[in-house]
Amino acid sequence: MLRPILLKLSGEALRGTADGIFDRHELMRVAQELLSGIDNGARVGIVVGGGNILRGDGISGDKGDPTRGHYMGMLATLINSLALKEVIEDAGGDCEVVAPHNIPNVAHQYNRAQVVRWLDEGVVVVFGGGTGHPFFTTDTTAALRAAEIGADCLLKASNVDGIYTADPRKDSSAKRFETLSFDEAIAGRYQVMDQAAFAICRDQSVSIRVFDMRQPGAIVQALGPTPPGTLVGS
Ligand code: UDP
Repeated sequence: MLRPILLKLSGEALRGTADGIFDRHELMRVAQELLSGIDNGARVGIVVGGGNILRGDGISGDKGDPTRGHYMGMLATLINSLALKEVIEDAGGDCEVVAPHNIPNVAHQYNRAQVVRWLDEGVVVVFGGGTGHPFFTTDTTAALRAAEIGADCLLKASNVDGIYTADPRKDSSAKRFETLSFDEAIAGRYQVMDQAAFAICRDQSVSIRVFDMRQPGAIVQALGPTPPGTLVGS
């Protein structure tokens, strides 16, 4: 059986081009593409962010206690997890939400053995609630969960088609990398993922694929044998 894949979706990815928190149309596209990937044999875990609702590092000083802000950010990721579960089930798939927190009726408390069983059964497992600890990100969560479930690859969904020498939206001379080593990715301080996530993936031999998820069919392709984007590996 193929090893599972860990897909990291930012909160912004669920917003699409809509003004509100979610774009239902975009969510449904994500769900349908995920289920196509599963029909083709992929086993998929998802870590979802919360940036379409709230990021904890926006809360500090006069705005409040940063630690509490990060707990608010973790709750935002759970809201997104439930939105994903809803559309995946509406699209005819099976989905379970797990979290490091004890939060009955919202998520199952994380249990690695159960998660692996669900993945083997073709259930999409959404990891909400981040690591459960403040001052981390959902990129780091994705790296940790990818290592724990023995994922072959961490697919980082982005709004650009890979890692560039500079931000291609600001610098027209920016060049895209086909491949990068972990050490190059860390030394280059590319903003696409946080440094802790790169380091965990390097140490646990989980390759990272950064791809543009906005193209129709991009998620199906990313879950298949010829994924697009930049590959970060050993
Ligand atoms: N967060 C946290 N611990 C974690 C993961 C996330 O405290 O292990 C909080 C943090 O405040 C973060 C927010 O949840 O800003 C939302 O996650 P993230 O910023 O990674 O979301 P994304 O940018 O991917 O939408």
